[in-house]
Amino acid sequence: MSKAIRNIIWRPSPNFDDRAAGTPIDMLVLHYTGMKTAEAAIERLTDETAKVSAHYLVQEDGQVLALVAEEKRAWHAGVSRWRGADNINARSVGIEIVNPGHEFGYRPFPDVQMEAVTVLATDIVARHAIPAWNVVGHSDVAPNRKEDPGELFEWRELARKGVGLWYRENRHASLHYASLLPGTGGESVIAIQEALNEIGYDVMKNGIYDDALTAVICAFQRHWRPSRVDGNVDAETQAVLYALRDEVRRLT
Ligand SMILES: [Zn+2]
Repeated sequence: MSKAIRNIIWRPSPNFDDRAAGTPIDMLVLHYTGMKTAEAAIERLTDETAKVSAHYLVQEDGQVLALVAEEKRAWHAGVSRWRGADNINARSVGIEIVNPGHEFGYRPFPDVQMEAVTVLATDIVARHAIPAWNVVGHSDVAPNRKEDPGELFEWRELARKGVGLWYRENRHASLHYASLLPGTGGESVIAIQEALNEIGYDVMKNGIYDDALTAVICAFQRHWRPSRVDGNVDAETQAVLYALRDEVRRLT
């Protein structure tokens, strides 16, 4: 835990084990708690029988709780994959952000909570030298199962403050693209799958726009084009996708 974060409360969870020797910490995974109350979430994340945890939890008033020491492996990502890796818990720090989530009344993250997440994430990313393209949401690494932290999370603001990946915005870029709808196939779908893959998503490059691809598109939209999350590759979604792919190429 860093001295840069003031007023962290230690609330130990028994739900952790050792990181595999030699595995670097090179990812940051953000979640929302998705429970009716913060208390219920804290209860669960520290309940031995629940077998889930995270390193930190950020309350809606900005209070940060530390649940698991960063050098230990917390259990937050489950079955997940990013940039070809499936040992996400072993290589990441996980932050749970209190919000009831889509099931119990999804609501904006208060400014004071976003500020606390930003300070905490900035510190973690700096200490472990986590690259921008490895700052992800749970839905990015498990798009078929997860929606968190969701489209209300302010990824763009976080990236502006130096944490995570964003793209060079160009409001005319979408003029170059035509919409694609689920059920279509072929070269243009393969191009989309390749771009998603380059960014880090676990996508089959089969040219088939099926439910699996739709789920990944939704995850992509929640993170980088949150104004409409519908799984449809409209022109703007394509423009953002290719701009982001170009940014990954520029940085890697
Ligand atoms: Zn999650």
